[in-house]
Amino acid sequence: MHDWNWKTIIEPFKIKCVEPLGFTDRPERECVLRDAGFNLFNVPADKILIDLLTDSGTSAMSGEQWGGIMRGDESYAGARSFYAFERAVRELTGLREVIPVHQGRAAERILFSILGGPGKTVIANTHFDTTRANVEVSGAEAVDLPAAGALRFDKPGPFKGDIDTAALEAKIREKGRENVPLVVMTVTNNSLGGQPVSMRNLRETAEICRFHKIPLFLDCARFAENAYFIKLREPGYAGRSVREIAREMFSYVDGCMMSAKKDAFVNIGGFFAVNDKALARRAREILIIGEGFSTYGGLAGRDLEAMAIGLGEILEEEYLQYRIRSIEYLGEGLRRHGVPIVEPPGGHGVYVDAKRFLDHIAPERYPGQALVCELYLTGGIRSCEIGSLMFGRRGKDGAFEPAPMELVRLAVPRRVYTQSHIDFVVEVFGDIASRAKSLKGMRLLEASEVLSHFTARLAPEA
Ligand SMILES: *Cc1c(COP(=O)(O)O)cnc(C)c1O
Repeated sequence: MHDWNWKTIIEPFKIKCVEPLGFTDRPERECVLRDAGFNLFNVPADKILIDLLTDSGTSAMSGEQWGGIMRGDESYAGARSFYAFERAVRELTGLREVIPVHQGRAAERILFSILGGPGKTVIANTHFDTTRANVEVSGAEAVDLPAAGALRFDKPGPFKGDIDTAALEAKIREKGRENVPLVVMTVTNNSLGGQPVSMRNLRETAEICRFHKIPLFLDCARFAENAYFIKLREPGYAGRSVREIAREMFSYVDGCMMSAKKDAFVNIGGFFAVNDKALARRAREILIIGEGFSTYGGLAGRDLEAMAIGLGEILEEEYLQYRIRSIEYLGEGLRRHGVPIVEPPGGHGVYVDAKRFLDHIAPERYPGQALVCELYLTGGIRSCEIGSLMFGRRGKDGAFEPAPMELVRLAVPRRVYTQSHIDFVVEVFGDIASRAKSLKGMRLLEASEVLSHFTARLAPEA
């Protein structure tokens, strides 16, 4: 259906199985939020009306995938489902050594425990938070080199997920190539607005890496959304199928790691794929200690079956057209109410720029988290702060170091919500926008060292 010219966005699926939403009233939400320490990660899901916390593991599987769940082969070693999964990953990526893991961060932990370590520097367009944590836990340093303009949230651009190739070249020379074990391209660039990486940038990065003999990996949680953006926006790709575009993306890299909880529609799963046999052998040794045997990697056979099917379904162009357009529609709705967003809307969600929206709240008072709490109180909507609560730090002298951005991510689960749910979210934003200046900041009461946003407790300012 490449001739779809109607204005109405229709979901390219119909609904066979439904779940109730969590309706609450305002006094109940106030109580729930206080008990949760004003951290939405602590709120029970049945107290949430629309859950935009994450698109990770929250998508709806298809009838085909549920059928695959029944057909899954639960043999301990060499299950039929493993070979179906291995075939799907090989066909998509062209990479030979395929290692299943229970989710993306398990692949990261294995990879960086081999390639990381003190004195090493891993470079990325932008590390996702668990990726950064796994690099740093190994003792290595994680350096982000987003392209110029990526942090200019108000200025749209077609490929704001790109890496700054000149800065990459300079950083490799500064650190010495022997100290840079890996360059990672995150597609799409999750932490900076779900923005895509262009094929051209990927190709140039691959040339730089090849020249310095540094392996290039894709963190490919949202490879299909990225490929679809290339089809829409990059000259020369309009006539190519998304599958061909995805194959070309993978053709430039030496390996990839994927959280299949994103673009494979599954509720749990991931993988790691490379051509380097020696690296794969070491990874399998670590896998067996912590995750499981190399043909299941901490998953059930049925999970492997569902992943294999999901990796095919995600490349259906009617789905991707709807997906990208529906997110864009959410962005248009917020813009209409004067809510500043990261422009343009990303592939898996819209990111509200709380620094501009709530410019009367200083970064050390967590404007993003203030908006997250207000969205819940007003509409029962759960969202996620990507700002100083997630990335802010205390310097050596105890001084607060804010994150470079104060964003609130509205991540949309795949195939779960309908367009009327999206309209409701827009309506709630309209209400909040009309009284934005009366919102108050937050105080941080307690937080852990690593990935503190999962455990932090806060309180509203008096
Ligand atoms: C989700 C995600 C990860 C981590 O994957 P999990 O499955 O949550 O462990 C890594 N990188 C990116 C870009 C992600 O979006």
